[in-house]
Amino acid sequence: MRVCFLPVLLLAVTATAQERRVVITIDDGPAVNELKDLGNFQRIARGLLNSLVAEKAPATIFINERQLNVQGQRDGRAAILAEWLDAGFDLANHTYSHPSANRVPVWQFLDDLVRGETIMRSLLEERGRKLVWFRYPYLDSGTTPEVHQAIVDFLEQRHYRVAHVTVDYKDYSFAGAYTRFLRAGDSETAERIKQAYLDQVDVGFDHAEKVSREVFGREIPQILLIHCNELNSVTLRDSIARMRNRGYQLVTLEEATRDEVYQRPDTFVGGGGSWLQRSAKAMGKQIAAGPEPGLPKWIADLPRPTPQPK
Ligand SMILES: [Zn+2]
Repeated sequence: MRVCFLPVLLLAVTATAQERRVVITIDDGPAVNELKDLGNFQRIARGLLNSLVAEKAPATIFINERQLNVQGQRDGRAAILAEWLDAGFDLANHTYSHPSANRVPVWQFLDDLVRGETIMRSLLEERGRKLVWFRYPYLDSGTTPEVHQAIVDFLEQRHYRVAHVTVDYKDYSFAGAYTRFLRAGDSETAERIKQAYLDQVDVGFDHAEKVSREVFGREIPQILLIHCNELNSVTLRDSIARMRNRGYQLVTLEEATRDEVYQRPDTFVGGGGSWLQRSAKAMGKQIAAGPEPGLPKWIADLPRPTPQPK
């Protein structure tokens, strides 16, 4: 019995590993919080781009066009969008200036949404491609059913699809600390944060896999949310290696969202919320695996470094 049991078991493990799929989506592009220095902006955006090219990893980048609107740098900043597209990646709308649909009037939110597609839409259309995806800033999609529905209807009229999220390990909180220490000249602490962040990739996926099994009884194609920041620009290849070690195949948003779990209309009203949390709520299920993992306490407790004089 033992002789034949082992290969069967191995086969089962391999099959599970092969079935894991994830799409990488990167928000707040081309480079968040870099509204002054064109060099930083380009280095971060190209760091992400080059990592994805080297790994042959498909990805969708969600852009805030506000970041392009810097006097004297507009051409240099917009050129990054063309670089992304010409390298074969998809660009998507994340509004112009990143307002929360839960905090501004609906007309203002929709106005910002339309303003967010000005440059991108023409760059895509020049290349015979279409602007398809939208993601809500902060994942906030309206606090009342009426507001939510007004946005959903508007997105439908403009032929947008909403990109949900299932894996969110709060990269931005690591990234904030990393950049602060790096730019204050404390590369040793920055390096420790970077290593902790890479460990967080496994923590985050482990959590999403557990919740996915709890809510759907299986692991669904995952949608990872990270941001266009300095930390990801230097760690993305290592993060992808971690995903591949877990048996993930990298796919596109189109491919991942063919799964039936993404066909349900989104009626969720409230603050944030991953697609796993939203689905659990719609299905009346409690998530026993607990909340999404956040920043380790030792990083949160670090004193703020003194900025280096320029
Ligand atoms: Zn965002």
